[in-house]
Amino acid sequence: SPVLVWFRDDHRLSDHPALAAAVATGSRVLCFAVLDDDSDGLRPLGGATRWWLHGSLEALDDALRRTGSGLLVFKGSALSIVGRIAIEAGASAIFWNRRYSAAEIAVDRAIKKHLTDLGIRAHSFNGRLLHEPWTIANQAGKPFQVFTPYLRAVMARPVAAALPPPKRIPGGTWPSALLDAAIPVGALGLEPSSPDWADGMRAEWRRGERAGQEGFERFCRESLRGYADNRDHPSVQGTSRLSPHLRFGEISPRQIWHGVTAEAAREPSLARDAEKYLSEIIWRDFSHQMLHYYPHMPDRPHSSRFDRFPWSEDAKAVRAWQKGRTGYPIVDAGMRQLWQTGWMHNRVRMIAASFLVKHLLTDWRRGEAWFWDTLVDADPANNAFSWQWIAGSGPDSAPFHRIFNPVAQGEKFDPDGDYIRSFVPEIAELPSGFIHKPWDAPPAVLHAAGVRRGETYPDPIVPHGPARERALQAFRSLRSVA
Ligand code: FAD
Repeated sequence: SPVLVWFRDDHRLSDHPALAAAVATGSRVLCFAVLDDDSDGLRPLGGATRWWLHGSLEALDDALRRTGSGLLVFKGSALSIVGRIAIEAGASAIFWNRRYSAAEIAVDRAIKKHLTDLGIRAHSFNGRLLHEPWTIANQAGKPFQVFTPYLRAVMARPVAAALPPPKRIPGGTWPSALLDAAIPVGALGLEPSSPDWADGMRAEWRRGERAGQEGFERFCRESLRGYADNRDHPSVQGTSRLSPHLRFGEISPRQIWHGVTAEAAREPSLARDAEKYLSEIIWRDFSHQMLHYYPHMPDRPHSSRFDRFPWSEDAKAVRAWQKGRTGYPIVDAGMRQLWQTGWMHNRVRMIAASFLVKHLLTDWRRGEAWFWDTLVDADPANNAFSWQWIAGSGPDSAPFHRIFNPVAQGEKFDPDGDYIRSFVPEIAELPSGFIHKPWDAPPAVLHAAGVRRGETYPDPIVPHGPARERALQAFRSLRSVA
């Protein structure tokens, strides 16, 4: 009888422990995925990740076919589907890589129990993280709450080797009932139709394992050297842009770990950059362990004193933020990059998120939800954790009273305004001295640049100084109540 491999956000053949173990049984291997918008507690994907998923599943099917197998995709609640697939396929065992949020674990446990009752063995593996949450604890045996000691603990640990892809997967034949129940990737409705807003994303990205692995090789060749300094400059190709590939498991963190470590061993002058890059991969593990232990992370402030935060409800201001029309060029460039390409540079994510939460005093959950819908790398752990970090309500967060000045941030990290020019064309002709604060430019300069304040480009929707004061006052009000 065949064995099954259930792919879940691990859309690759290399370093896929569940697939490798299934192939090692010597049985025929049937591969499937489930688009699950129905299980309790699982958050349906946003628009941009649905778009990515389409290409990711197509690429996975393609790669599996070339290796002797193929992919069937089903739609519905995994709990009601997976048992049926296993029975109808006459499978003796099912293999999958583990997931870590409480809701996902609940679904997987229920499925495992159901299958065990049916006499079908379920085998699970770590394919998503460097280290699973329960394997790293502080001296008291508790999860780390602070990143730096967590980082130190991880840096001192060996990371399991990355597995090679199977040379050949002995595929089998699906029973016709399952072939009929499966849905072709193109019919899942993942790609937008009218309006088709994905053109900018198509121009920017290639999806799938090959693109992810090539992106990593390119990063090692071209951008690892200098990463520690360049990563904060949005106009420079200074980061790896692997986040959507990591999100969908088109590359594994173990592959990155060993690849980068080998680069640094070969070329010792890369040590600082390699360490910085690996620390970002460790942030990813850290936020996954946080979501694992604190499942409320996307839904409510980790620090309960933020429950009483006097958020403002200014729908017009939030709309301006979403559309990149706040009048602060660095914020607007970021929000437009996000809308056009499905991705935003990390430094600008921090500035734009801080602006929403602190300058507009908007509940961080509004921003988290917008990013969830528009980011191709939207990830339940990284997104929620990063928003709470910015809002000051998360574990080991930036303190609330640290409020980014969007002009100073722009001047520091995009000094010539190149990043702004590429996403806010209506002010592209302004000289660098004014590109971060068009309202300071003399009329003649504005005129020469073709900028009409308040017409071609908005004036700031809130002035920085008073907005900052208002935010600090709101924060102080928490203390006076406490
Ligand atoms: P690189 O600098 O090349 O880093 C390599 C990898 O490390 C990234 O791909 C990512 O997997 C991981 N990483 C980097 N920074 C972080 C971080 N701060 N926290 C956790 N992992 C990190 N990242 C997501 O993957 N998904 C999200 O939904 C997400 N939402 C965010 C929301 C806000 C408000 C902020 C401030 C940050 C968010 N991040 C998120 C983290 C970070 O911005 C992105 O991971 C990074 O910009 C991706 O670009 P890159 O792959 O070029 O990063």
